[in-house]
Amino acid sequence: MTPLPPGSAIGILGGGQLGRMLAMAAAQLGFDAHIFTDEEDSPASRVAARTIVADYRDRAALQAFAQSVGVVTSEFENVPAETAAALVAAGARVAPNPEALAIAQDRLSEKTFFNDLGIATAPFAAIDSDADLSMALPRIGFPAILKTRRLGYDGQGQVRIRSAEDAKDAYAQLGAPGLLEGFCRFDREVSVIAARGADGAIAAYELCENEHGGGILSRTTLPAPCGPEVEAEARAIVERVMQRLDYVGVLTIEFFLMQDGGLIANEMAPRVHNSGHWTIEGASTSQFEQHVRAIAGWPLGSTTRPFPVEMINLIGDAADNWEALAREPGAHLHLYGKRDARKGRKMGHVTRLLPPPTPYEPDYG
Ligand code: AMP
Repeated sequence: MTPLPPGSAIGILGGGQLGRMLAMAAAQLGFDAHIFTDEEDSPASRVAARTIVADYRDRAALQAFAQSVGVVTSEFENVPAETAAALVAAGARVAPNPEALAIAQDRLSEKTFFNDLGIATAPFAAIDSDADLSMALPRIGFPAILKTRRLGYDGQGQVRIRSAEDAKDAYAQLGAPGLLEGFCRFDREVSVIAARGADGAIAAYELCENEHGGGILSRTTLPAPCGPEVEAEARAIVERVMQRLDYVGVLTIEFFLMQDGGLIANEMAPRVHNSGHWTIEGASTSQFEQHVRAIAGWPLGSTTRPFPVEMINLIGDAADNWEALAREPGAHLHLYGKRDARKGRKMGHVTRLLPPPTPYEPDYG
């Protein structure tokens, strides 16, 4: 495709912090970010050139949006299928494409998609009734996790099942459609973030190690303590996924790293990701700039990481500590401009580039 020239508009569906950081990266490259969101006064709208506030199913508003931008992307995967279809019908170029969004929205299609590509997942079963759950549990075994098929995030929409007695409650709590998964006793959680350009070029960042608290990402660190074979395997997997989907943009895959070095794919996000925030200061090109480059048909940037790095999420009232963080030399503070710090809400993050390990100096006495 002909690269979008600076001065063009990049359309972003969604007004959260990912949209905000995408809009800032778009501005850095001379683009105008246009936000489409159903939320008044969103974090993204406060840094964007223009915002349309409307329902995601408002066809007239979507048409006006499609006609005002050179490309449309999304900061969340749960874009209604009819929204993507309406944008395509209005002549918009949507990147990544609606198929990638549709697969990532549904845990059953996502896991089936991984398995069809030869990518290992936890054992799983579709659950549409109480009876499905009773039938699947002996095969999946205990403990198991029942998850909602759609709209789960940050550990929401899932219940651990430790015994047959738990099963009834779990089903009553979540309902159908659900997905039952075998529990993976992993060593670590890691994610790979990669981008594919409009020309098919692929650039991956190194694997990140992710720690969660209460189902929410709390800390990401690099380098992840895993060898070059695991890194190579993660890259091969993300490349396979992007090629199969003819994907354009940044894609994230979250894995469980097992004790034997095997990678179990948990889920994919067809977008920039919280575990990639470290790239803003920690990599030559941030994931946000990389996504804008990809969808605008520009060449991808370098993914080199010069230093060890940690990213800590500021969740709920942790962001009240902003003055101390602002005073800390070398701490890169990001606040998302959210008006109220509800419990469990991502309010910002802080990135620290750490001194590289001291090289081993032999003592020749
Ligand atoms: P998810 O909503 O699928 O990203 O799950 C949120 C978190 O729950 C993951 O980051 C894991 O820590 C944990 N988890 C989810 N699925 C499994 C599983 N099958 N086995 C073990 N832990 C899991």
